[in-house]
Amino acid sequence: MEKSEDIIECFEGFDLIILVADRPKVKLALWVNEAIVSLNIPLFCAGLEAQRALQYTIIPGVSGCIECWRSTVKEEHPVSYEMLEKRKSLNLTGDNTAIAPLVSVITGIVCAEIVKYLTGIGELTTVGNLKLIDMDTMTTKISETWNKSSDCTICSSINR
Ligand SMILES: [Zn+2]
Repeated sequence: MEKSEDIIECFEGFDLIILVADRPKVKLALWVNEAIVSLNIPLFCAGLEAQRALQYTIIPGVSGCIECWRSTVKEEHPVSYEMLEKRKSLNLTGDNTAIAPLVSVITGIVCAEIVKYLTGIGELTTVGNLKLIDMDTMTTKISETWNKSSDCTICSSINR
């Protein structure tokens, strides 16, 4: 896959997408973001770093998309944004630190969020929010929050 159209072609007709692949690091998230907005289906995303897991959900028309998130970072944390841009241009891959117990934890947490979405039982906690799970303490917190941007080039025309 090399562009959002490749993803759209593969996932047309699906109810949601779960993204846990991480290469190419930044480009993949941007391609998937364009695809889920185009298909108007939710994205449930998770990943692992050495000592923590990350989770977020995008629902087109409800939450901001990944481009809205990037705009928020650009406005509020310009140094972080520049680092993201550099990682994207260099296509940095990072180390793979996943071990089975951590994968199991984040898999269970993402599946619980998807069950809540599909059944309507319980409140989703990661829509437009980045949740971090500290693997040392097993505590969670919302690390970043973003809203739908009215001038987003990807999702501003989507409404639910
Ligand atoms: Zn957007």
